[in-house]
Order: sequence, then structure tokens, then C-alpha cells
Amino acid sequence: MSRTWSVDEHLADILARVRPLEPIELPLPEAQGCVLVEGIEVPTALPPFDNSSMDGYAVRAADIAGASEEKPTVLEVTGEVAAGSGALPTVAEGTAARIMTGAALPPGADAVVPVEWTDGGTGEGPAESMTAEEARGEVGVHRPAEPGAHVRTRGSDVEPGASALTAGTVLGAPQLGLLAALGIATVRVRPRPRVVVLSTGAELVPPGEALGPGQIHDSNSYLLTAAARAAGAIPYRVGAVPDDPEEFRATLEDQLIRADLVVTSGGVSVGAYDVVKEALTDWEFETAVPQEEGPAEEPPAAGVEFRRLAMQPGKPQGFGLIGPDRTPILTLPGNPVSAYVSFELFVRPALRTLSGLEPVLRPAVPARLECPEPLGSPEGKRQYLRGSYAPPSEGADIGTVRPEGGSSSHLVAALARADALIVLPEKVTRARPGEEFEVLLLEESGVPSR
Ligand code: AMP
Ligand code: MG
Repeated sequence: MSRTWSVDEHLADILARVRPLEPIELPLPEAQGCVLVEGIEVPTALPPFDNSSMDGYAVRAADIAGASEEKPTVLEVTGEVAAGSGALPTVAEGTAARIMTGAALPPGADAVVPVEWTDGGTGEGPAESMTAEEARGEVGVHRPAEPGAHVRTRGSDVEPGASALTAGTVLGAPQLGLLAALGIATVRVRPRPRVVVLSTGAELVPPGEALGPGQIHDSNSYLLTAAARAAGAIPYRVGAVPDDPEEFRATLEDQLIRADLVVTSGGVSVGAYDVVKEALTDWEFETAVPQEEGPAEEPPAAGVEFRRLAMQPGKPQGFGLIGPDRTPILTLPGNPVSAYVSFELFVRPALRTLSGLEPVLRPAVPARLECPEPLGSPEGKRQYLRGSYAPPSEGADIGTVRPEGGSSSHLVAALARADALIVLPEKVTRARPGEEFEVLLLEESGVPSR
């Protein structure tokens, strides 16, 4: 740990060495939130056939051209078509077929009259109370309809050969719905990254268990697991490993098989029992990379580098590639606020890079600082204070941000109230009320959901 790294240098190093995951074919339900790697062409028209948009009667528009309240046109009902009906009655001149929403327009018919424009049929009440056998007799239509009325024509949504979705689309609910409507069951996407979350510390006890003297609950593994899931990853929370380098290494080697990225917390500063640093510094990882066909490519070097960053909180950080697959590992400091801020600044962008999601960074907006007293900030370090952001009020150009808690990195209750990080640049030593600073919005949408 020789020179001090800036936040930007550390992030740039991570982003330069983390590659998007190889695409795989996934069933639709598993592809939610994933990025499509190739464009999808519409295979068949939507709707696939002309169909009714109302419950009513399929008619020939010409037959009812003169229909009115005073003088309804009476048509003979010769059959019915329900959604899914395969056999269709033919609608001849002077006749109608009872039809349900989504049912195919029978041959001969060119319009649908909603049941509300009729006497309901057979003079015995609304069509929806009839059985199929009762779909006989007569119907009085008291309004004319244009040809094509209440008919959803084949291909009126999309035609075959059109672009359904372009490469790079993030698959949300409507996109998955479209693919299903097109009959497409699987898609090629970048998979969600699998993240192994390990916390370290002899003092850690899982929540739900009583604390002995000097013990605390392991909050980081829960916090980081939740943050990884919110970032679109599939997290595996391993929980706390005691401060024993051998045990830490053994656990890590076991876990690598299911990791696209590893996040650890604790054990990276300069004290005694800094287990992560001790275990990973100069650890000879398995360097053999599985040989594939074709010219062998030199794999990137394995190893983890521990650094001092010019930031607060989150000064000690480690990053590297480990194991035969050169799995990225980010070792975060143990204080919960430091771990969370480090996740936001470094792990989340790495996960989004693996996923192929853009932008990789949280949205940043300017905001005016709202606090009673000026805040001190260490010179030469970029400080990330926790804050509550309020969007611009009526007539204001920018929003405001109020600090939540002080700068200490153990303040988890204040962190739980925050929805933004206030960025105090390296050169700032005093942040005065009313001054403008950049704020990173932590909510997924940028808008607090509470
Ligand atoms: P370390 O970097 O391991 O020395 O940890 C720094 C501080 O963070 C210590 O006060 C630890 O007790 C605390 N800490 C470390 N890991 C966790 C964790 N998983 N949950 C809560 N606090 C932690
Ligand atoms: Mg520790």
C-alpha cells in the first residue's frame, strides 16, 4: 500500500478489468431485468387474426346501415364465436353471430356491434347470460356501424418482419409480455451476475442470536446482499467468517464456483486481524485457465491489490481478479457505512458492467446544502455524506439536500434515513449552508419511493 489512489482512479481500474458476462439463452421469467444482446424480429402478425374488441354481434355493416332506436334492424342469429373457437359460422346477409372479445371475426362479417347497441338478442336479456344454444333467434340492432367497427385487424399491432425489440433493451414487464405474445419462450441475454457476499470478523453474530460480550450483529452481509439484489444481481450471502486467513481462503475457494463477482467486508485496514488482507496478499491462486479451442490467450494476472483511497468513508479498499476464471473481487472496509458507500461507488458499477446495463453510475444532480452550521471536510479527500434529497420546489432551479447524521462511518440509523450521497470534493474543507454540491441519488428511479 504505497501511493494514495483517487476514487476515480480506483473506479477506472475496476471498470477496465471487469468484462460483461457472456450471453446465455434464458426462459422469459428468468430474463427479467436482463439486457437483450440481439434484436428480435416479429415472427408472426399481432393480432394473428381479425378479432372482436367487444362482446356483441358480428354483422355485415351494410345490413344495419339504416338501424336506429326507433327502427331497429332485426337480424337472425345463426351461431356464436367465443375466444378460442376454431369453427366459425358464416355470417350471411341478414344474419349475425354472437361474438365475445378476442374471438375471431367469422367469415362474411365485417363489423361488430357491441351488445349495448342491441336489444341483447332473442328479446330475452343480455347476451352474456345466454348459453351457446340460446345464441339463436333474433337480435335487434339500434345503431349502424362502419365496416371495421370494433374489429382488431390482423397485424394492426405489429407485422411480421418488423423489429419487436432492439439489442440493448432491458427486459421489463411489457417487453416480456410482448415476447410471450409473439410466442417466443427464450431469449439471449446477459445473465444476472452471481455475487458471493462474505463478511469477516470474530465479533460478528447473525441477527436473531443473542450477543455475548464484545459481539455485534453482522449487518454488512445483509446490507450488501440486499444492495446486490437491488443492483440486479443474484446474491449468495455466505455470512460471517472469523478472522482466520486459512478459513477465509478455504471459504473463498469453495464459493468461487458460483461467483461472477465476490464482495467481502472487513479486514482490510492496517490493524492486527486484518484477515482479508492477510489471506489475499501474495496468495498463489490457481493460475491455470481452462484452455479453449484456438490460440491460447494470455489470461489477465490474478491477485488482489490493497489500496488507500483519498475518500471518506471507505479509505481502505482492495480489488483484483482471483481463481481460474479471474473472478473480480472487491474487498470493502468493515464499517457498515463505509461498506455501503463503497458498494455504491465501486461494486454497483462493476455489477452493471457485468450485466451490460448502462449507465453504470448512479444519477448525479446538483443540490443546495441545507444545514444549520458549516460542515468540515478533510482536505484532499472526497467525502460522501449521507443525505436526504428534496427535488426542486416550485420556481427553484435545483433541489436541496440535508445531511443525515455526521460523517462517522458507524452511523447505520442515519444511513437508513438517507436517500442520497452528498459529494464534497477533495479541495473542499468547509461546506456552507446554501452552497451547491453534487448529490448521488440512491433510489433506483431517482425518485424516493416513500
Ligand atoms: P474491520 O475493517 O474488520 O476492522 O471492521 C471495522 C469496523 O466495522 C469494526 O468496528 C467492525 O466491528 C465493524 N464491522 C465489520 N464487519 C461488520 C459487519 N459484517 N457488520 C457490522 N459491523 C461490522
Ligand atoms: Mg474485522
